[in-house]
Amino acid sequence: MAIAKVEPLTTARALRGPFDYRLPERLGQVGVGSVLLVPFGHRRVIGVVVALAESSELPPERLAEPVQALAAGATPELVRLGLWVGREYCSTPARGLELVLPPSVGRGGAGPGPRLETLAAATDAGRAALGAQTRLGRRQRRALERLAGERPAAGFELSARQLAAEDGIDRRALERLEDRGLVTLRVEQRLRRPRVVEVGARSNRPSLSADQASAVEAVVAAMDGSASREHLLHGVTGSGKTEVYLAATEAALERGKGAIVLVPEIGLTPQAISRFATRFGDRVALLHSRLAAGERRDEWQRLASGEARICVGPRSAVFAPVGDLGLVVIDEEHDASYKQEGDPRYDAREVARHRAHQAGAALLAGSATPRPESWLGLRRLDLPRRADGRELPPVEVVDLRGGSPRSGPLHPRTMEALAEVREANAKAIVLLNRRGWSPFVCCRACGHAFQCRHCEVSLVLHKDQERLQCHHCGHAEQTSESCPECGSVALARYGAGTERLATLLSGAVGSMPVFRLDSDSAAGAGGHVEILRRFEQAESGVLVGTQMVAKGHDFPDVVLSVVLDADATLRFPDFRAEERTFALVSQLAGRSGRGERGGRVLVQTLAPEAAAIRHAAAHDAQRFLAGELERRRALRYPPFSHLIRIELTAAEAGRAQAVSERVRRALEGGLPAGTELLGPAPRFRLRGRHRRQLLLKAEQRAEAVSAVRGAVEELVKGRELRGSTISVDVDPQ
Ligand code: ADP
Ligand code: ZN
Ligand code: ZN
Repeated sequence: MAIAKVEPLTTARALRGPFDYRLPERLGQVGVGSVLLVPFGHRRVIGVVVALAESSELPPERLAEPVQALAAGATPELVRLGLWVGREYCSTPARGLELVLPPSVGRGGAGPGPRLETLAAATDAGRAALGAQTRLGRRQRRALERLAGERPAAGFELSARQLAAEDGIDRRALERLEDRGLVTLRVEQRLRRPRVVEVGARSNRPSLSADQASAVEAVVAAMDGSASREHLLHGVTGSGKTEVYLAATEAALERGKGAIVLVPEIGLTPQAISRFATRFGDRVALLHSRLAAGERRDEWQRLASGEARICVGPRSAVFAPVGDLGLVVIDEEHDASYKQEGDPRYDAREVARHRAHQAGAALLAGSATPRPESWLGLRRLDLPRRADGRELPPVEVVDLRGGSPRSGPLHPRTMEALAEVREANAKAIVLLNRRGWSPFVCCRACGHAFQCRHCEVSLVLHKDQERLQCHHCGHAEQTSESCPECGSVALARYGAGTERLATLLSGAVGSMPVFRLDSDSAAGAGGHVEILRRFEQAESGVLVGTQMVAKGHDFPDVVLSVVLDADATLRFPDFRAEERTFALVSQLAGRSGRGERGGRVLVQTLAPEAAAIRHAAAHDAQRFLAGELERRRALRYPPFSHLIRIELTAAEAGRAQAVSERVRRALEGGLPAGTELLGPAPRFRLRGRHRRQLLLKAEQRAEAVSAVRGAVEELVKGRELRGSTISVDVDPQ
């Protein structure tokens, strides 16, 4: 008897398969990864076959049969990967499997079917009928005229859609003509291709420098299985890392292998994508969430069928159905967007490593500012120089200490430098990592602070929308003229965000156009790319924005980069604050001086002594990472330990506290040696939920993860966490 072990795609944590089903002949070919509709209790659910067996522990009469086999699902390799993600990140098999299924089966639900197009052509009889005295309806005649009127070449076809739109010829008319043998109709499946926007894409193929060539050689050797498989490509911005990715991908294709190229958030990396699309054309498929559902499905299909062999996309592309994988590239491997924030909270970089390992593929992570983890764990390839041979721009740290708080966000040195840019008719980039007009509004009379009613955070003033916004939950309210507590109209706005800065700059730099790039200004299709393109095409100008301005573009006429409030990221209560600050300052510095006119960088800060800022100013990743690793070792932070964060939320503070203590007790006995358990610690209220956090610092990752998973499952099964939500984050960011 053929048995399928099926994991139902349900969201309930307590409900855990796989469950056995008997496979009847009528279902046809069913294998690991097939998607089935199965009876489940009184319901029917969609499930994924995770294994096949000859027999079941259950007696045959207790085994149900699947109702039907649905569309083809995932490959066995991807099923294994999905199950691994579910386990590794303390989620469920269902959640892990959803990640690897075709877009139409996964989270999106059924989604649209394939786009079918009806094409009409005139037959010989149809052509003859036009001239003869054949009786034709008005629409039928018009259709024949379109299809055969001007003696078009044989095989001339028009789509029914087009005939309907341009001539009002409906479907019925075409079908009548078909019945009469005057027209043939055929249906074709159209694959939708996403449009790739070209931003500074270079189609030329430079000959590789010696450093680039030896990096490619190492990766190719890894692909051929003769050397270490995992590499870190450390190269300053503009050192030609992307050319190395392209060459390594080409080598994979030559070997008949496929490649996955992970890039940070899609909107932020149009250049990287267009370079791959330009170089490899139809062999590239893009997979990301901004595609229309149909496009995504079709791109997925092109990969699954092997028509496309390279997948470029953000973190979820790590699950792309690329067969016979030879290479996985992680571009800008330091980027925080590789961590998924929903369940499962996977880290695409770790999944990439696992998948590459599983497939025997080479892994190539690249960055100018690599993570300490990668610095320590991967074999290093260096591109120490910029590809154009230019020096990195000098960085000047502008000490803000002792300055007057009234002097505004722009230091006089910065104003001077901007004036020089204007005189030189050149371009500048100014980074301030904060959206909105001002981050804090309060009443001068009574001190009332405008806070989110759902979260314990200040509302941010967005002047152009006349709204106060919560950047955590999205709550927004109309700006008010007066204080809701005392009625005073003396409201004060403190601090500046990008919106205010853009206005300030517009006043300060005179005729130079100012472009603002943040998630507010970029909202809407193509917004981000459009803003970058306008900046690119302008003769001179200032690009102001959040960290978005520091990523993935390459404009030769930028001669000045400025970081404002560089220590804002340093003040985050997070052990990665140093790493982030270093990356942000270095990345922005890398955007300057890419052209003939050279460039420079200004960093305004209250913490000029901070290691992250000093080393970034010296372009010295090596020193920074050495020091950072030492600090991490002393504090037992990753990569010298593994962190697992457990968050509990409830509507009442008491309940949140009680359940988190309950979880702590459940964990205490079963943790592997060398695990430190911290908390419960309160976190600020979010979306109306009180929150508590437990943190584990573990030496033995797998054991700690499995202890947490076991404890959580027990508690959920025993319904001990009722009235609360729990989320587990392995390797939190
Ligand atoms: P990175 O990805 O490290 O920022 P890129 O690959 O984007 O660097 O390269 C920066 C610029 O240098 C690009 O315009 C690229 O076309 C060019 N470039 C890269 N490698 C070479 C080379 N070997 N010779 C000439 N130009 C190169
Ligand atoms: Zn007041
Ligand atoms: Zn809120």
